[in-house]
Amino acid sequence: MTFKDLNIIPTILKALTKENYTTPTPIQEQSIPAVLAGRDLLGCAQTGTGKTAAFAVPIIQLLSEPLNRPDSRRRIRSLILTPTRELALQISDNVQAYSRYTDLRCVAIVGGVSQHAQERALNQGADILIATPGRLIDLMNQKRVDLQYVQILVLDEADRMLDMGFIHDVKKIIAKLPGKRQTLFFSATMPPEISKLVQSLLVNPVKVEI
Ligand code: AMP
Repeated sequence: MTFKDLNIIPTILKALTKENYTTPTPIQEQSIPAVLAGRDLLGCAQTGTGKTAAFAVPIIQLLSEPLNRPDSRRRIRSLILTPTRELALQISDNVQAYSRYTDLRCVAIVGGVSQHAQERALNQGADILIATPGRLIDLMNQKRVDLQYVQILVLDEADRMLDMGFIHDVKKIIAKLPGKRQTLFFSATMPPEISKLVQSLLVNPVKVEI
């Protein structure tokens, strides 16, 4: 199995080759076709399995389709929520690497650093926003971020977001997104509160377990 067999477009294949990715990992093999087909996804997987590319590669491909652009302005069309600053920056590095030959722009919004630089980055426009919940809520409250064009939501490490006390913020953010969207949900464990969230957010999801 190759990424080409998974129908990945040449602009992304070229970037994956540059990263020395030759073969998709099991989670990528299972997730990529489902995400490209527009399905919701429930992934039980830890970091280290290739989880990031499993969602990032098909998202970049879907957003590269000219038909998926609402207008000529750059809009946030995918929102990736993750619990920590380190994970957000790691995901951002990966998204930038995989999308380097596309015209997509990605911005990361994390706490603990000056908000001004992030506001400037947002003002320049982003297709993909990677955020930790706290800083995103701050920017939303200040009306600095527009989420009404989000087509694809990713919840990464949902169980950790619960453990870290972010679940209320996460629900508040999701309430501001369009109801008609694709949702990709990743969690290493499924405590009852996470199962409840899965039930309320996902429609007929493809389940991937590694
Ligand atoms: P992740 O689970 O997304 O944090 O990925 C773990 C590590 O595996 C990262 O360093 C990725 O760059 C790398 N990786 C992900 N997918 C592949 C692949 N298909 N081939 C080789 N390395 C990969």
